[in-house]
Amino acid sequence: MKFIRMLILILLSLCLSHIEAADLELKKVEPPNWWVGMKSGFLQLLVYGDNIASAEPGISYQGVKILKVHRASNPNYLFIDLQISAQAEAGDVPIVFSVDGKRVAVHHYALYERRPGSAERAGFTPADVIYLLMPDRFSNGDPSNDNIPGMLQEANRTDPNGRHGGDIKGIMDNLDYIRDLGMTAIWPNPLLENNMPAYSYHGYAITDFYNVDPRFGTNDDYMQLVRSCHEKGLKVIMDMVFNHCGTNHWWMNDLPDEDWVHQWPEFTRSNYRNPVLPDPYSSQYDFDKMQKGWFDYTMADMNQHHPFLANYLVQNSIWWVEYADLDGIRMDTYPYAFQDFMAAWVKHVLSEYPNFNIVGECWLQKEALTGYYDGDPDERLGPTSNLPSITDFPMYFAMDRALNKKTTWTEGLAAWYYVLTQDIVYHNPYYNLIFPDNHDVSRYYTTIGEDLDKYKMGMVFILTTRGIPMIYYGTEVLMTGDEHDGHGYIREDFPGGWEGDKVSAVSQDGLNPDQEESLQFSKKLFNWRKGSKAIHEGKLIQFIPRDTTYVYFRMHEDKSVMVIMNQNSTEQHIETSRYQECLDGYTRGRSVISGKEIDDLSSITVPAMSAEIIELSK
Ligand code: CA
Repeated sequence: MKFIRMLILILLSLCLSHIEAADLELKKVEPPNWWVGMKSGFLQLLVYGDNIASAEPGISYQGVKILKVHRASNPNYLFIDLQISAQAEAGDVPIVFSVDGKRVAVHHYALYERRPGSAERAGFTPADVIYLLMPDRFSNGDPSNDNIPGMLQEANRTDPNGRHGGDIKGIMDNLDYIRDLGMTAIWPNPLLENNMPAYSYHGYAITDFYNVDPRFGTNDDYMQLVRSCHEKGLKVIMDMVFNHCGTNHWWMNDLPDEDWVHQWPEFTRSNYRNPVLPDPYSSQYDFDKMQKGWFDYTMADMNQHHPFLANYLVQNSIWWVEYADLDGIRMDTYPYAFQDFMAAWVKHVLSEYPNFNIVGECWLQKEALTGYYDGDPDERLGPTSNLPSITDFPMYFAMDRALNKKTTWTEGLAAWYYVLTQDIVYHNPYYNLIFPDNHDVSRYYTTIGEDLDKYKMGMVFILTTRGIPMIYYGTEVLMTGDEHDGHGYIREDFPGGWEGDKVSAVSQDGLNPDQEESLQFSKKLFNWRKGSKAIHEGKLIQFIPRDTTYVYFRMHEDKSVMVIMNQNSTEQHIETSRYQECLDGYTRGRSVISGKEIDDLSSITVPAMSAEIIELSK
């Protein structure tokens, strides 16, 4: 009897401890680790586990202390503020969770050493040309990861909106191609987990901010990709999304607080009108829809005014920079998130990494509206975003007008001239991200009516005017696609990225003569630009378009470059006395495109519908 009673007591206590342990099982601790020696010693951990709020955390580790413990309305969350002092050493920090003084769980939190020089990392600059690629559509290096148990959407290459199987291995396999093309940086669309039942390929419905989607690879693979890129002289820019998360994000079924995401009585879409913020006459109604409306049914609008979510996002971005050794961030849908938070975020990242670069996606039609989101410190056009770089959509829209319309006072080549005259709205337009197209708009070659002459003129412009050029994968081999047919058609598979592809940009098998020509032309320009100080650092001086020609210079010490655009259907002899202020002291030049030496700069001949780049010398 005594024995049975003891057995029952033992079983009961086992049961109780089991229940306690189950109650306090830690499902998530994020960020998953941190580093010693960061400029900011503040760290806020998100701890997620059933009824974790009933526990009290404690830390006994030299240089690390708990400043404050916060509880949300949901008892399954704890937010722990830590102070990591400059003296703290790397190691495992045991965090002991107790209920009524009884230890119920221990979590070993890793603090790592930073890479040497991590804080001084340089971001991308006007010396770079960025290759934007969509990982699912670029190259399938590992067909074994196309379908992964537990991941909702399977690969189906016949569906334009489905997953096609591209992955990190595919990018790795083609780094030599990207480098030899003359690129100096890559920007892959988001690689983080998107465990959504449909449209998961593009990456913008993130369901886990700390893990790469297993169909692309692992976090280690991503780290290896960055390492390989660095070995080949390529920078890596990470695409981040703070405005929204996928509705299948793990926290969506168990939010810390109701206001973690914006809640509406019924599904409410953003009005997508970024001008609502700069508009001095905008209504609160429009403003709220713009900022708090959801980006899509599958993309929940996050509330960056929730203080713990704000910390979460800031730390997440710094975690990736430090973990993966990044060279830059591209922030998606910049105007859709609360701007006071975004400005503070940029400031925080730049305080950790003063030489880093961040480009904000600000998709607006007009210069002044774009300037509103610029990082101008004097706040001439609204509060500063602190952004060092901004996407130049007005320049993108001018590409169509410049190349497809005849030159008049304002159209044709004058469209480029006029868009540049409005650079007064930017604090540093030389850092604007410029592009002939991207993953959200019709492909460049389609926009210009599949005209190779226009292709070359536009490429010369993008690569020689001020700004940081970005080239969308496949542009070099004239990929086409109209956005009105659906996004899947502007994000088609890169030729040569899949086993058995009959056409390959990489091996050049199966390319038609135009594709071969565009590839060679682009490759020559990209590689020349890599070494041109005048383009990287030179001041831009432009002249009013005249006689359907447009001339500008990039002036840098004794290495200046002259660019002449001729939109006429006949060859033009350009008489250069009008450009004397820029040609003064220069006696000769060399055509970058033909390689020909030019001994007489007084008159320069430019063929019909073409652009000439001349490297001037004294
Ligand atoms: Ca794959």
